[in-house]
Amino acid sequence: MSPATLDVAGIAVATGHYIDGRRLQSEETFETCSPIDQRVLGRISEGGAVEVEAAITAAGRAFPAWAALPAASRKLFLDRFAAEIGRRADAFCVVESNDAGVLLSRMRHGIVPRSMLNIGWFAEQALQLQDRSIDTDQALHNVRHDPAGIALIITPWNSPLMLATWKLGPALAAGNTVILKPPEWAPLTGSLLADCAHAAGLPAGVLNVVQGSGGNTGAQLVSDPRIARISFTGSVATARWIAQTAGANLVPCSLELGGKSPFIVLEDADLDNAAATAALMYRNAGQVCLAGTRLLVHTRVVDDFVATMRGYVDQLRVGDPRDEATEVGPIIHPRQVERIGGFVERAIAAGACPLWGGRRHAYGAQYFEPTLLTDVAQDSEIVQNEVFGPVLTLQAFGSDDLAVELANGTDYGLGGVCYGETAHATAVALRIRTGFIWVNSFGIRDLAAPFGGIRRSGIGREGGGWSFEFFCDVKDVVVPKKPFRASFSHR
Ligand code: NAD
Repeated sequence: MSPATLDVAGIAVATGHYIDGRRLQSEETFETCSPIDQRVLGRISEGGAVEVEAAITAAGRAFPAWAALPAASRKLFLDRFAAEIGRRADAFCVVESNDAGVLLSRMRHGIVPRSMLNIGWFAEQALQLQDRSIDTDQALHNVRHDPAGIALIITPWNSPLMLATWKLGPALAAGNTVILKPPEWAPLTGSLLADCAHAAGLPAGVLNVVQGSGGNTGAQLVSDPRIARISFTGSVATARWIAQTAGANLVPCSLELGGKSPFIVLEDADLDNAAATAALMYRNAGQVCLAGTRLLVHTRVVDDFVATMRGYVDQLRVGDPRDEATEVGPIIHPRQVERIGGFVERAIAAGACPLWGGRRHAYGAQYFEPTLLTDVAQDSEIVQNEVFGPVLTLQAFGSDDLAVELANGTDYGLGGVCYGETAHATAVALRIRTGFIWVNSFGIRDLAAPFGGIRRSGIGREGGGWSFEFFCDVKDVVVPKKPFRASFSHR
């Protein structure tokens, strides 16, 4: 059994689970290391059968009362939950940058405020959840959005706080109770979230955090038929297993998966803007599902574009994510560094040419150089598979039709970027088969807008009403307008 807390730069983080309003330690533990330098941060409880059973029992017991609360009452709890995240902003920033390698500056200015909003905004939206009716000559259909039950939320390591709160907000606001299974490579901000729920006075069992590895703890949770919804963000391989297992139990799942999104630069694009945005694809060391990792550039502008982009890439500050000036941080785990290096080596062996990068970065063992590979075939491994590191490919095209064909030519379909004269770029964007695409921009998101992918990039949409549709059982309560008398001729 590990000590009850570990210390990250003076911040105490609980190492146990949070089940039924209480901390619980397991005999089994696993190590969590910092991606910055692989130093061991401490040991975390690994949930087994006992903890999984305790969490499901607690969430099931808490469900009827939480579901029965008016949305306005749940909002009071959730507003306090969001405020507790805000009160611990510094702790979230320091802990996630140490544990997951996310840039401290991005945590402070982007992720922590957004995470508070993820909770508060959905709590506000839930006030209108039941305001739908369909009025016909025959009847008034009161369309109810009833909470589904116990929602299981499983998140990856590349942005653990943001992705957990993005799911927790709508799940809890709609009246579900939740079991959160944080990623084993970055489990600590999940533990801080439990502190926030506790301090906000969320009733015991409404939010449970069960720590552990995917193949053990995660798999046990997914397999349990008492789970009503599974909201998963992660890899395609895991999603396949989850979908099969959930399918056997007929449990709906939302799957947000990987991407291999195109970044198209048309002949009439503002090249400087496009190049500056393309350099952004190295953010979070490329460990970003929605990054446009396949640069598709018109042959007439490709040389200028590459030269301009190089200017931006050369200025990128690679380093320690805790330094507010750093723009590209570490890779999460030595295994991922190996994996990224393997992709690049095999691509080069197959004929690809690095225009820059291609190796581990001199800054440290956990760092990889921002890399651009050209001379890559459309059917090659490097073009067809998600690397999830700072590695982009470059292909040139001579017509819109070819740009569209290359852009649509993988099994993924998450996002995309298209730079060009606005009407032209919009027309091309409309032909790209993905869940979303940014025209002359990148990363503009709104909580009300749908987010998600098609084909291997996932099933379902998150955001606004789409999140509520997933976390609710929709029920039509039909009240006739005239007295109803049973008759066999009645339809
Ligand atoms: P992963 O699939 O290995 O793990 C994700 C989560 O699933 C972790 O919490 C893990 O413990 C858990 N898990 C693993 N096996 C499980 C099992 N059998 N049963 C239940 N849970 C299990 O993915 P990862 O490597 O942590 O994350 C990287 C992937 O996530 C990339 O492919 C990336 O593109 C994707 N991602 C997608 C989005 C999106 O919104 N589309 C956002 C971020 C990351």
